[in-house]
This record gives sequence, structure tokens and C-alpha cells, in this order.
Amino acid sequence: MTSDARSAELFERAQLVIPGGVNSPVRAFRAVGGTPRFIAAAKGAHLTDADGNDLVDLVCSWGPMILGHAHPEVIAAVTDAAARGTSYGAPTRAEVELAEAIVERTPVEQVRLVSSGTEATMTVLRLARAATGRDLVVKFAGCYHGHVDALLASAGSGVATLGDAEALASPSSPGVPATTTAQTIVLPYNDRTAVTAAFAEHGDQIACLVTEAAPGNMGVIVPGTEDGEHFNAFLARTCREHGALFVSDEVMTGFRVTRSGQHGLDGVVPDLVTFGKVMGGGFPAAAFGGRAELMQLLSPVGSVYQAGTLSGNPVASAAGSTTLRLLDDEVYRTLDASADVLRTAVAESFAAAGLPHVVQSAGSMFSVFFTPDDVTEVPDYATAQRQDTAAHAAFFHAMLDAGVYLPPSAYEAWFLSTAHDDEALSRIVETLPAAARAAAAV
Ligand code: PMP
Repeated sequence: MTSDARSAELFERAQLVIPGGVNSPVRAFRAVGGTPRFIAAAKGAHLTDADGNDLVDLVCSWGPMILGHAHPEVIAAVTDAAARGTSYGAPTRAEVELAEAIVERTPVEQVRLVSSGTEATMTVLRLARAATGRDLVVKFAGCYHGHVDALLASAGSGVATLGDAEALASPSSPGVPATTTAQTIVLPYNDRTAVTAAFAEHGDQIACLVTEAAPGNMGVIVPGTEDGEHFNAFLARTCREHGALFVSDEVMTGFRVTRSGQHGLDGVVPDLVTFGKVMGGGFPAAAFGGRAELMQLLSPVGSVYQAGTLSGNPVASAAGSTTLRLLDDEVYRTLDASADVLRTAVAESFAAAGLPHVVQSAGSMFSVFFTPDDVTEVPDYATAQRQDTAAHAAFFHAMLDAGVYLPPSAYEAWFLSTAHDDEALSRIVETLPAAARAAAAV
């Protein structure tokens, strides 16, 4: 058992001055119970919490830390940048280099840098609406695109973890006007019939369809292939047929599942793409991009307004550029191999414990669904919601007590880094059987 006395003390203090004691809801452990671990330091694949416990990290800051924590080259670049000043509110070489690196790796021609994935998706909606002169937006149930009002309808991630089950297209949060989500059509993921029907009815009013490139915020869902056509290719084609824009949210998958992202797996070229997480190297940086002709609608060239005091921040840009420079083909081979080891170990341990489950992956990104026996595949949010969250909570705490830090929610992907070496992977693999048995006993 690991001690959590100091984390508990910090959590008490935190709750007095921060709602729920956290600055992002899932961190509070509400879904799994117990005391959230306050982190004091991190290096490679390991976290050290406030009580001095060493934890193997499978959250990796929810995706960004693909090279592991405190990678020496990233830290050197950041230290060097910070010593030259932390923000100027004027353009820098660093942001040009980061933008060039993104354009070189992905199908976008131009990007604009922002500070969070939420900002990126928010602006992309504005741009798509301006470009098409239409108002409606299509999204999928269980996909999360940040806390943008218009996209907080049937949202995944923390909303899936904490929220009440809600009717499609009704707001996922109080404070989001129903008139805002009334402009949002929510469809079941992987459901081509529903997409075709929605476009048949509203096609000439739809500005864009936005989807996670491969969903990771309701657990990892595989975009299906039917008659040889990938789901994303089908979505892009349907949008094109109706004069709507196809927006791929690669905030989670970008630069993680391949050197470009999900695009590297399916080859689909979206009209607009959002990026975040990995490209910021652990700093607040995100981006959106697309064809130059669309991006040129943004001010100061065009009239679609968008701005940010800290956009293209020099320290964040240095962290991002350095991270992307280090992401060569070998990195993706390592991540794929590590993911294989873990997926196999999970399947074996869960089978041995008689614990029904489904493991799903998009490249090296994967998650484990605690679904009942009759579920062999999770294609959408409705199926993901059939999970046994009590079994997940027991599993989570057994892993944590043995020194493995998993996402504190059944609706999140597990994230690996290149710092997850044989020692770190062995610790996880050795911990799985007992944790699976604990979950099966619930
Ligand atoms: N899109 C996706 C696919 C995400 O996973 C997230 C965050 N988990 C966001 C957008 C929002 O990014 P941020 O938290 O940086 O606002």
C-alpha cells in the first residue's frame, strides 16, 4: 500500500481555494473515489507524488509526454528559451519553426498556434461557419473536443466520467444555452446510416462535421471500414458532397499514433485539423490548420477574428519543436511494441481472472473497456456506457496501490512514452493479475 497522507493534506487545502480541489475535473478521482495524488516531480516514465511514492505513469499528462517526463533535450531547450524571456507578445523564430514542423508532418498548408485544444476547436467552428455561411455543426456522441459550448453536447472525457446521461444534442453542462447546442447535431459514432440521414435532411445548412480522428475520450474507438472505405474517408466524402467542411480533431492522436497522427494511418485529408498535447511538449500549446485558402480567412488577412496574448509562446514553442524533432520513426516503433506488450498482458490477466473486457487501439493509443460478456466490440458511446465502473474503480486502486498510475476514469485512453522501458513495462505487467482479480471480485 502506498501512503497518501500528504496528498490528502494538499487536497484539503486545495478544496478551500479551488472548486473540487482541481483545475480539471477528472483529476479529482470522483469516478474512482479516494485521494487524488498530488505530484511533486516526474522523470521518464515515473511520477513521484507528495508522499514520495514512485508511480509508473500511464497518463503521461493525458497524452503530451510522449518522450517521458523531463526529457533532457526538451528541458535544455525550454531552459534556454526561458532565459531569453518568457513572452513578448510579438512574433518569434520559435513559433515559425513549430508551425513549419507541423506543416511538414501533416496534411495542413498553414497553421495558427493557440494555447489549448479547446481554443483550437472553438476557432475552427468559427472559421468553418464563416467559410460556408452556414450554422449547423455535426459531432459524435462521446467525442470530446474541449469545453467549447457548441461541442458540449453528449461529450466524452470528463463529461462522460462525471456527467449525467443526457439526451442527444441537449447541453452536457448547465450554462450552455440550449440555443447553442440546438445548432449541433449529435450522431452515434461509426453509424454511416445516421450520418447519411442527417446530411440528407440538413446538408445545405451544415457548416462542418467535427470528429476525433480516432476517438479516445470515450475509451479508444476504432473508426470502422466498410466496403473498403475508412469511416473518416466516408465522412470526408459525405461533407464534400454537401459543401460542408470535414474537421478532424487530432489533439489526442496528432504526432502520437504516427509521425503525423491518425492521418498517417488512414490517409484522409481533412479541410481543417486541430492539434494539441504532443506538439506542446508538456506546455500549453495547440494549433489548428488547413488549406491556405481557408486559413487566409483569419485576421489579419481576412475578417474571422482570433487572437491570444500567449499564442505561439516562445517557451512552449521551443518545447514543442524539440519534441517533434525527436519523434523519428524509431519512436513510433518503440511505442507500438510497448503497447503490444501491455495489451497482451491485460488480455491474459483479465482472462485468467474471468473478467469480461474489450481492449481497443488506434495505433499505440489503447484503452480497456470493462464491458459485460456479450460485448465483443465497442463501436460507439452507447456501448462504452455499458461498462462496469465499479470494477474499473477496484482495478484502478489495486494498480495504484502497487505503484501504477492509470487514468482515474473508465472512459480514457492509457498513454505510453518512449521512457517506458523494460523495467517500467515489467512493473505494470506484474501488477496486472492481482488487480484484475480485485476487479473480478467486485
Ligand atoms: N480535443 C480532443 C480530442 C481532446 O482529447 C482534448 C483534451 N483531452 C481537447 C480537444 C481539448 O484540449 P485542451 O484540454 O487542451 O483544451
